[in-house]
Amino acid sequence: MSEARILDGKATALAIRTEVRSAAAKLEESGCRAGLAVVLVGEDPASHVYVRNKDRAASDAGLAVQTVRLGAATTQERLLQEVRTLAEDDAVHGILVQLPLPSHLDAAEVIEAIPPHKDVDGLTQSNVAALVTGRPGLRPCTPAGCIELLTRYEIGLEGKHVVVVGRSMLVGKPLAHLALAANATVTICHSRTQELEQHCRRADILVAAVGIPELIRGDWVQPGAVVLDVGINRAEDGRLVGDVDFEGASRIASAITPVPGGIGPMTIAMLLVNTLQSAALRCGMTAKDLGWGR
Ligand code: NAD
Repeated sequence: MSEARILDGKATALAIRTEVRSAAAKLEESGCRAGLAVVLVGEDPASHVYVRNKDRAASDAGLAVQTVRLGAATTQERLLQEVRTLAEDDAVHGILVQLPLPSHLDAAEVIEAIPPHKDVDGLTQSNVAALVTGRPGLRPCTPAGCIELLTRYEIGLEGKHVVVVGRSMLVGKPLAHLALAANATVTICHSRTQELEQHCRRADILVAAVGIPELIRGDWVQPGAVVLDVGINRAEDGRLVGDVDFEGASRIASAITPVPGGIGPMTIAMLLVNTLQSAALRCGMTAKDLGWGR
């Protein structure tokens, strides 16, 4: 029997998507249609599913979406050309290159070809520096989605001990910075961390972004803690599971995100938010002009 409150990322993301749709319609009335370009290279089945979901969500929200699909043998130069073309296209306000890229391609160089104001994944060096130094910029969608979910459930971060398990550039590191910016005390754990269990037990807010099915056991959770499970893994029996033992943790935590239906949908919602914000800025509109109530 689950006792923790379920942090419903699906419902929250739906609410955000409705807000984006209404703001995008206002933007369009002023002659500016927000545009998102998604670049997908190769045949990775999970990436195809993610791109389809992003494409659908963006279209539903009234954004103009184009998906550039390139074969697995695409050269670095060809990919850079595609990104540079999108960079110069005034109808495109956000560019997302779906990761991971096939191993012969240099993802870092491709990401740097995206102009920072169109970098809706928040991964360019310029946006990373903005995050670390507290300047405005586009923030990575998954960690931004984690913070947004907490905000909408009125779970404050100030003074809390946030333990982030995982230090990737996509999730763990930016999340740690966002939590710091919200005045949390932050511990970052990773593959070489000693006594992971003890660190987890000290978390008021525990975030798992590792990619190992149910690595975090229920009894590693401090009673009353909030658990955000970013992981999306296929268990041996075929179930989709997170990095946290959901059943065990939900008996001890005060609130927890499910997998699926937690951080995944929030990631897509934040991609729409970033694209809309990027478009609004380019078209000289403010959030207030768009009735964007945040
Ligand atoms: P990654 O492989 O880039 O990073 C994994 C991190 O986990 C590394 O920093 C590593 O040090 C750490 N780690 C590995 N083994 C560990 C261990 N035994 N103990 C502690 N730390 C360990 O992965 P990522 O891109 O950050 O993604 C992590 C997970 O989140 C994956 O399951 C991925 O599918 C999922 N993900 C979900 C979303 C979403 O929208 N919900 C978005 C991005 C990633």
